[in-house]
Amino acid sequence: MGSDQVTTDVLIVGAGLAGLMAANELASRGVRVLVLDKGKNAGGRMATRRIGGGRADHGAQFFTARTPEFQAWVDRWRETGLVFQWATGWSDGSLHRAPTDGHPRYAVHHGMAALARHLAADLDVRLEVEARRVVHQDGGWGVTAADGSVFTGRALLLATPVPQALSLLTEVNGTLSLDDRAALSSITYAPCLTGLFWVEGSLYLPAPGAIQRPDMPITWIADNQRKGISPEACILTVQAGPEVSRRLWDVPDDQALLHLEQVFAFFLGPEAVIRDAQLKRWRYAMPEKVYPERCLMADCATPLVFAGDAFGGPRVEGAVLSGLAAASALLDRLSSGGD
Ligand SMILES: Cc1cc2nc3c(=O)[nH]c(=O)nc-3n(C[C@H](O)[C@H](O)[C@H](O)COP(=O)(O)OP(=O)(O)OC[C@H]3O[C@@H](n4cnc5c(N)ncnc54)[C@H](O)[C@@H]3O)c2cc1C
Repeated sequence: MGSDQVTTDVLIVGAGLAGLMAANELASRGVRVLVLDKGKNAGGRMATRRIGGGRADHGAQFFTARTPEFQAWVDRWRETGLVFQWATGWSDGSLHRAPTDGHPRYAVHHGMAALARHLAADLDVRLEVEARRVVHQDGGWGVTAADGSVFTGRALLLATPVPQALSLLTEVNGTLSLDDRAALSSITYAPCLTGLFWVEGSLYLPAPGAIQRPDMPITWIADNQRKGISPEACILTVQAGPEVSRRLWDVPDDQALLHLEQVFAFFLGPEAVIRDAQLKRWRYAMPEKVYPERCLMADCATPLVFAGDAFGGPRVEGAVLSGLAAASALLDRLSSGGD
């Protein structure tokens, strides 16, 4: 064993909600856990970015709770002042007040990434560590990072978008059964081009400061100031639907931003100016084809689990439930000595 090798019980690749929920659940049962993430911050698609004088959520915008299990978590986060109810429905942009369907849409004070920071607080999370390959090692799993460092665990949880997880396993052909590989390979995701715009001047978005139009080329426009996460400046988040995102994927940033800008210009006052803009390309934004169960325990001798929103349902709620299911599957497997 090399001196720079770090060993743990469960090695988790991916500090999005699925990985972080799993890690907390395992740690609370006395299991040693180490989480690796290639990002500068934990959270993955729960992402908040600074731009101009303000702040914007540029991945997930809000979340719903469709199961009692997830609602219990949301209630807990609301009690601790982390999460708030933002709305009960969205306008379609016709400048009328948002119709309400009574179902709460939640958001996180200070931005979505704050929930991930909270979940990561008591964990050993190694950021800016990009996993490059996975190998069988010492009766467990070894993960080699881009800088050559090696991490080993008795069990491995891959909580990244599935194509990224599969790309780590190229050197362990034969580890996954044909059925598992076929099921995982069939999972697909839609991309999303997201623009952030710092606007000065008047803006006429209907209450609550966001519009949603799932069937239109631009599906979402939200004012992060009215959301309450950017008191200092008006930052708009503008998201393109899958079709437009695919079409504009390779065009230069300024052209893609111009395209998004033309759509929301309708909501700007005549004196309003755009002070700054940024583009984010999410290649794996939202699962389109998902796995029917909340996680996949690979059919192999050493515990290997796949989790994420492609398993629990294509949303924040799904990622959380998938992480919890993966932890439970791993606890069963480790306690039965299945390594
Ligand atoms: C633009 C956009 C808008 C969305 N809007 C909503 C919404 O309004 N409501 C909603 O409920 N959901 C929404 N979603 C979906 C929601 O964000 C996701 O379902 C959820 O956050 C997924 O969590 P996860 O843990 O499964 O994956 P991720 O959050 O993707 O976490 C995976 C992590 O793995 C890391 N990783 C990947 N490869 C490696 C590697 N090789 N080595 C190390 N680390 C690696 C990544 O850095 C990332 O942090 C949206 C997503 C996007 C992109």
